[in-house]
Amino acid sequence: MAEKNKRLLHGLEQEIGFLSEIGADFIFAPEREKARLPGHQVAVEEPAAGKIPPVRMVGKADEERQRVLHALEEKILRCTLCPLSQGRTHAVPGEGDYFSPLMFVGEGPGADEDIQGRPFVGRAGQLLTRIIAAMNYSRQDVYITNVVKCRPPQNRTPVRDEIERCRPYLLAQIESISPRVIVSLGKVATDFFRPSAVGMSNLRGRFFEYGETLVMPTFHPSYLIRNEGNKEIKRLVWQDMQQVMDVLSRK
Ligand code: URA
Repeated sequence: MAEKNKRLLHGLEQEIGFLSEIGADFIFAPEREKARLPGHQVAVEEPAAGKIPPVRMVGKADEERQRVLHALEEKILRCTLCPLSQGRTHAVPGEGDYFSPLMFVGEGPGADEDIQGRPFVGRAGQLLTRIIAAMNYSRQDVYITNVVKCRPPQNRTPVRDEIERCRPYLLAQIESISPRVIVSLGKVATDFFRPSAVGMSNLRGRFFEYGETLVMPTFHPSYLIRNEGNKEIKRLVWQDMQQVMDVLSRK
């Protein structure tokens, strides 16, 4: 028991250390109201005393969205449209809340993601999870995916043809989920939405429109890891996420 408490305390210290390092002082403020799409506010039936618990009533449109996204994931899992499919252990369609106003888009699965079939579960993923937590969300509250759904060999940058063949999948995910904000993590993800010759230092921190959705470009978590000691980069990412939180907290 003492050992378990020690581990819990250590985890908490790490978390607080991280939050204070990026300047996320709001954790000591009252709970923020989480932004939700109207479609997410499903009706709940009041149970009569002693009866079965409330049932989440899912509307027809919600069911349809779930059906479309499931079918899409199945298709991605079986996809053989580009050579990346030949080297994969698992395709990684994406995961999270189909009704979230917030989507994170990375570059492509790495080794851990390829093994587990889940996005952002390796080192960069752990950092992304902490950033999401600092925003007062959990991974289950948002949708996380990548530009390409299969791991490029040796984690190289996906090439144009791979990105183009995979493009319809991400476009269909965006269309179905219809998030208010997409955070594009790094240059490959940002270029997917608006190709440019400009580097991330000049792209980050400024929303641009992609159809009905606002895209916030920010540094990829792997870049943060590669520049571990650089607090300024973390601070900039946090600034970008604060802008995202501001937009999502508006009705
Ligand atoms: N890097 C990415 O871009 N995506 C992942 O899923 C993991 C690492």
